[in-house]
Amino acid sequence: MQDLLREIAEAAAAEADKGNVATYIPELAGIDTGQFGIAVATADGKLFSAGDADVPFSIQSVSKVFALALALGRVGEQIWRRVGREPSGLSFDSVLLLEREKGIPRNPFINAGALVATDTYLASSSPRAALGELLTFIRAAADDEAIHINETVALSEIATAHRNFSLAHYLASFDNLHASVDKVIGTYSHQCAVEMTCRQLAMAGRFLVDAPKMPALVSDERRRRINALMMTCGHYDGSGDFAFRVGMPGKSGVGGGILVISPSRASIAVWSPGLNPYGNSKLGTEAMQTFSHRTGWSVFGVP
Ligand code: GLU
Repeated sequence: MQDLLREIAEAAAAEADKGNVATYIPELAGIDTGQFGIAVATADGKLFSAGDADVPFSIQSVSKVFALALALGRVGEQIWRRVGREPSGLSFDSVLLLEREKGIPRNPFINAGALVATDTYLASSSPRAALGELLTFIRAAADDEAIHINETVALSEIATAHRNFSLAHYLASFDNLHASVDKVIGTYSHQCAVEMTCRQLAMAGRFLVDAPKMPALVSDERRRRINALMMTCGHYDGSGDFAFRVGMPGKSGVGGGILVISPSRASIAVWSPGLNPYGNSKLGTEAMQTFSHRTGWSVFGVP
C-alpha cells in the first residue's frame, strides 16, 4: 500500500495539467495547485499516506457527509420529507430544479439539499452550539481533537455567498427552511470551512466503513445509505463519471478534497486543489482511478 501511494503521488507531481482552483471563494483562490496528498485508513487500524498528506485544506462539501449523518441523528427518516435521494445532473449550486420541484432539493449533497441538512441539525440551537456538535462528531470519527474551523475561509465564503443566499431564500419561500437564512448560511459556511489534512480526513471517514475496529457513530443501515448517496450524488454532475472511473462511493469538495469509502476495507482521502470542469479535484479523481484499478477495490469487482 505504501509503495502504491508513493507511486500515485509521484505520478500526480509529474502531471502537467493540474486543473484550476475555484475562485468564487476568494480565500481559496490563491492556493497552489502543485499540491497533492493521499491517505488510506484501513479496516485493520493502519494509516498509510504519501505526498502532502499533512497539509490542512478546506474540506468544503466533503462536510456534507458529516452534516447528513448529524441531521439523520437529529430527525431520522423524517429528513426525506424535506430532501430527495436522486442525482441532480446539475452543478453543485444550481437553482434550476428548486422551482419545478417545489423547494425539495434533489439530494443532500447539492448545495440546496445541504442547506436543508444544516437547517435540520441546527434546529432551534445556536449556530455556535450546532457547529460544536458537528466538530464533536468529526473529532470523534477521526479520533483527533485538533480538527477546527478556519474562520477566515468561512467569512470569505459568506461575503460572496450570493448563490447560497438565493438557494436559502428559495427554500424558505417553500417553507423548507426553519431557521433564518442568515443563520443557515452562517452555519453552513462554517461547516464547509472545517480544515483537515488527508490523514485526518481518512481517519474521519472510518465511520462509513463496516468493520469491527471502526468508530460506530451511525447505524449499519444509515452507513449503507450514506455510502449509496455518495456513490450516486457525491460528485454533482460528475457523479456518474466518478462511479464509472473509480467505482467507489466518494464525496468531493471544491477545496480539492475527496473522501472515498471502500466498504469493509478502508477510508481514503485524496487532495489536490486544482479542479476539473465539474468542480471536483482533477488529480484527486485521476489518482483514485489508478488506486481503484491497482487495488481492485471497485465495488463492481476486480479489473
Ligand atoms: N462551500 C461551497 C459552496 O457552498 C461548497 C461547494 C463544494 O465544495 O462543492 O459553494
